[in-house]
Amino acid sequence: MSTWFEAGQAQLDEVAHLINLDPGIHAILREPRREIHVSISVKMDDGKVKTFKGYRVQHNNALGPYKGGLRFHPEETIDTVRSLAFWMTWKCAVVGLPLGGGKGGVVCNPKEMSKRELERLCRGYIAAIWEAIGPEKDVPAPDVYTNPQMMAWMMDEYCKLTGRYLPGVITGKPTAIGGSAGRADATARGAMYIIEEGAKHTGIDLSKATVAVQGFGNAGLNVAQLMNSVHHSNIIAISDSKGGIYNKKGLSPVEVAQHKKKTGSVINFSQADNISNEELLELEVDLLCLAALENVITKTNASKIKAKMIAELANGPTTKEATDILFDKGVFVMPDFLCSAGGVTVSYFEQVQNAYNYYWEEEEVYEKLQKKMRDAFKTALSESKNRKVNMRLAAYIVAINRVAEAIKLRGWA
Ligand code: NAD
Repeated sequence: MSTWFEAGQAQLDEVAHLINLDPGIHAILREPRREIHVSISVKMDDGKVKTFKGYRVQHNNALGPYKGGLRFHPEETIDTVRSLAFWMTWKCAVVGLPLGGGKGGVVCNPKEMSKRELERLCRGYIAAIWEAIGPEKDVPAPDVYTNPQMMAWMMDEYCKLTGRYLPGVITGKPTAIGGSAGRADATARGAMYIIEEGAKHTGIDLSKATVAVQGFGNAGLNVAQLMNSVHHSNIIAISDSKGGIYNKKGLSPVEVAQHKKKTGSVINFSQADNISNEELLELEVDLLCLAALENVITKTNASKIKAKMIAELANGPTTKEATDILFDKGVFVMPDFLCSAGGVTVSYFEQVQNAYNYYWEEEEVYEKLQKKMRDAFKTALSESKNRKVNMRLAAYIVAINRVAEAIKLRGWA
């Protein structure tokens, strides 16, 4: 069985073959430019010293500084970080950001650590990698189990080590210290702009559309709320790790969120019937939003999917075989690294604002985000039509061509 990273390389190989990519450029893109492995020793609250493993992978910076989140997770591995750095290169390129791809991770369980211990770990991580990062080199951001407060400590540590005020070294900071307006729901909002374009293409009226949402965390909750409040779409099913709920007349995402806050899950909501996650995926809806996990639509259930459009907010929710089955069935899939690029796009806006030391209103952020997402969708759609390929392959072609062009122009191959 291939690793996650090898699966990513296989996807690159397929596109390289399709677009007749220069073999020298192909070889550059198959591997990260640099991988940093560090050990971070932290004095814990009980006085004992604990040593944590940390990584930063810098995949490609032909288009600009490396960019990508930091994950603090007990099961973090170099393979995961490497694969996600690889995907960041394509994600930034497909939306036309002048940034490359990177990712970081620390093997730890933040849920078992005190606030002070976490602060020491954040500062220790930056002290270990600071020479390799910076606003013009590599810019981390929050991801799984990391948050704006942690970004604030890391930015502060970097400024102390360099002796300069350089908030653009990290994005996803609190707005009081250089974060951008509109960052909190940027991923879901970016996905909504992609869905709007998808609906135009497929002829779906979003004000009458039925929607099912798998996953009710940052991405899922916000996309459900936005689709409901901005487009008046009918959210008929929602799920989380404990199961799903269904009401064909529609659910209020705000009320479901309140219920989840009280009970810990969306299930047993008084105005809905409980359903399983499998049932949710197979509902007859106009739009299915996948905002939970990887590999939820596979060759086993792909033929049973009845949604007209699928928006992938999660990373890798549809396998390659399933993507082909859905394409043959005429289901319009908006692929993960395009659909979930709103977060990194607003992170890029944060870097720009930091560089100018001048900050935009929320409306300006939304307007600029919408333009970026729309343009990216249109370019991918036209590639998909020209080559008669699915949107995932089309988006890869756009992204890989952009990075390849930068490599060529810079004379690396
Ligand atoms: P989160 O932890 O806030 O939420 C995840 C949700 O998925 C939770 O509600 C959880 O209960 C649910 N879930 C877990 N297992 C499930 C299962 N088997 N069936 C149904 N639901 C299940 O995470 P998030 O930030 O919302 O991220 C979700 C996905 O989107 C991840 O793949 C993440 O990498 C991707 N993503 C998120 C962002 C972002 O800005 N939040 C950006 C890009 C990509």
